Amino acid sequence: MIWFERFVPERLWKRLRPDAIYVWENEEVRKRLRWYYLVMTDRVPARFLLAKIIEIGENKLKELDEESLWSIREKAVREHRELVNKALNEEYLLEDYNRDKKGLGSITSLLDLDIEIIHRMFKPCRLCERLCLIDRSKRIGACRLDEKTYVHSWFHHLGEEAPLVPSGTIFYGGCNFTCVYCQNYDISQKYPRSGDVVNPRKLARIQYELRVFGARNINHVGGEPTPSLHTIIESFKYLDINVPQIWNSNMYMTERVTNVLTDVIDLWLTDFKYGNNKCAFRLSGVRNYFEVVSRNHRIAAREGDMIIRHLVLPGHVDCCSKPIMRWVAENLPRERILVNIMDQYRPENLVARYPRLWRELARPVYREEVEDVMAYAERLGIVYEPISR
Ligand code: SF4
Repeated sequence: MIWFERFVPERLWKRLRPDAIYVWENEEVRKRLRWYYLVMTDRVPARFLLAKIIEIGENKLKELDEESLWSIREKAVREHRELVNKALNEEYLLEDYNRDKKGLGSITSLLDLDIEIIHRMFKPCRLCERLCLIDRSKRIGACRLDEKTYVHSWFHHLGEEAPLVPSGTIFYGGCNFTCVYCQNYDISQKYPRSGDVVNPRKLARIQYELRVFGARNINHVGGEPTPSLHTIIESFKYLDINVPQIWNSNMYMTERVTNVLTDVIDLWLTDFKYGNNKCAFRLSGVRNYFEVVSRNHRIAAREGDMIIRHLVLPGHVDCCSKPIMRWVAENLPRERILVNIMDQYRPENLVARYPRLWRELARPVYREEVEDVMAYAERLGIVYEPISR
């Protein structure tokens, strides 16, 4: 409550859903989103800020090959995680960070190293498991993007999960998936390059304004944010305000990209869509979906807090929803994860235009289907009630 009085302007405070306030009285939410809460309330510094004060002792990054960059990162990451753990125990606070950063002067940091690594992986592009391996300044990738980063809108989103709102949401154009039912297909598939072109400094300014005017977090979404990572990660260099960073993604990044993200992301807001590769290929046009996305969930869950979103699709309870719940229960630390079982599916995009081709998807999801998934999740010990609506 005190947090709101300090940060959220009256204009937003009056429009907030009551559950956005009272959700923090729920012990499970506080326990599972502890890191996010500490950063959100300015008690401890965000991961990207900590990455700025880890010195790597090497300043000619551009002259090194990619494998040397990775081996330098190994040691720096150990230091970073030690600092994160200290902060999690509240032994290293935001005021400590503010003191330390002044004493450091100009250093080459873990964040500089991560920026360099992502720029290398961007040219040729290996940011996601599509592995287009192209130079996006010359050709368009499977995500339908060139080398620029396009922001279609940014605002205080009041409709996200209760612990997140008001969420400083930035919608990037382009997506590496081609979901036939996409609800954002105008920015992800149809006109991905029609947004405002932003560079890292401009993107940092957007994040700054969102936070200063009351955002609890910065929520990178799309489309899909992965193809814009080269700009997003560099923007952190120019962002000097404490704010939790959220990666709101389909989690189809390459393993190396996921590892780099663990240095700067405070909360993973993941979209776990399919329980098998066949449905993923038929409906979203991606291969090896389950192997890639489950691998990335495992990596991400080791670092940072996590909310898994699962949109129940009509007719996909047994092939997708239940296998996902089972996998989450068996493979992720259940005591640290929240799941949002979503019931708001509606036929959009190609499904709305060609309902005969995707018969099972040309209707809303039945209440019984959602309840079946929820009951199954409950039996497996998955916590979903505080944030599923
Ligand atoms: S981000 Fe785009 S260009 Fe890069 S590998 Fe993925 S789909 Fe291809």
